[in-house]
Amino acid sequence: MRRSLERPGTPAGTRVMKRLDELATCSSEPSALTRLYLTPEHSRAIVLVRGWMEDAGMSTEVDDAGTLVGHYRGQQPDAPVLILGSHIDTVRNAGRYDGNLGVIVAIEAVAALHAAGAVLDFAIEIAAFGDEEGVRFPVTLTGSRSLAGTFEPANLDAVDKAGFSLRQALRDFGCNPDGVAHLGRDRSKTLAYVEVHIEQGPVLEAEDLPVGVVTAINGASRFKVDVEGKAGHAGTVPMGLRQDAGAAAAEMILAIESVAAASDDLVATVGNCEFKPGAVNVIPGSAHFTIDIRSPDDSHRLAAVTELTTRFEAIAARRNVKVALAKTYDEPAARCNPKLIREFAAALGGMGLPERLLSSGAGHDGLAMVSLCPIAMLFVRCQGGISHNPAEAVRADDVAVAIDVLIGFLNRLPSSLSQLAA
Ligand SMILES: [Zn+2]
Repeated sequence: MRRSLERPGTPAGTRVMKRLDELATCSSEPSALTRLYLTPEHSRAIVLVRGWMEDAGMSTEVDDAGTLVGHYRGQQPDAPVLILGSHIDTVRNAGRYDGNLGVIVAIEAVAALHAAGAVLDFAIEIAAFGDEEGVRFPVTLTGSRSLAGTFEPANLDAVDKAGFSLRQALRDFGCNPDGVAHLGRDRSKTLAYVEVHIEQGPVLEAEDLPVGVVTAINGASRFKVDVEGKAGHAGTVPMGLRQDAGAAAAEMILAIESVAAASDDLVATVGNCEFKPGAVNVIPGSAHFTIDIRSPDDSHRLAAVTELTTRFEAIAARRNVKVALAKTYDEPAARCNPKLIREFAAALGGMGLPERLLSSGAGHDGLAMVSLCPIAMLFVRCQGGISHNPAEAVRADDVAVAIDVLIGFLNRLPSSLSQLAA
């Protein structure tokens, strides 16, 4: 299935790849890519990206949340605004495409409009968000939440490992922390938020497709599960008299797998499990494990949680142990706008590409932006589905396709403006 030889990208695709290589030098480490929010390397990245935005005919500013925003005018001064974007912060020891690709591809699309002298019915802004990964502070999506008007001012007191508050870091970056809560955009003037991003999963590669259209950013629930049984001597307690919390947890974990596997749009993971007291010759008296369950459809996710709860109770009753679930996280799915999905699919179809739709298993700035305006995303195949890792890789010819699809999408959009607003 996999083509072994990479076809060359277009000049635009090659330029994007070169820029991403250059952007990857903005790092706190010489031999790895680490670019956290509001750091000197974040500032260096802004200088680079800002220059490329200006070359593409955009005016630029850095807002009070440290988001670099480029503006490309529409036909009328009060034209509605389409926001393109992604994030330019990274995890530690990151790949160079997560987030950054979406910003640089968006600039390339605007550059193509600019070169053609094209001004659309709407203005375009490109937002290069600085805090999608949430690595430096125990908060995340600061840039996109501020545009969406959902930033919590209490988050300014969040503190990083070195003891700096978000408030202080913003100030040191040249931003006004008290301004962050006032960055919320006017909904009536914001058309949509559109993001190009690497898939961070293996689906497009497995189907040999360069790009796919995202239907939703999956909602997620997380739980901590405690199973209480009775510890006992591994040699003396007969099997029929045991209250083995470990064996009960194992049966529950397999139930989680089977519930998720029975549905097309659920994934569920037990990433951590612990038995106590944890000795080779002691029957586990208690077991503790985590569940992470995700779906693009909130009703499926919630139904799965209900079914699991029922199954756990049955398992616990049969095995004479107790089970308790505590929810630790709950985020609804962010559905992409059906009309925007159709326009992206039509742009793909127009290029002779299959109109592959898929959901996003990972979170993105769209999770915040969806409370402001309709959202849409285009995924680009990444090698091996690997992300958050230096081995992250995309192909220049896929990037060229993504640029063309985005340009096709932008050109199709004016015809659906009125429907979108409806
Ligand atoms: Zn990302």
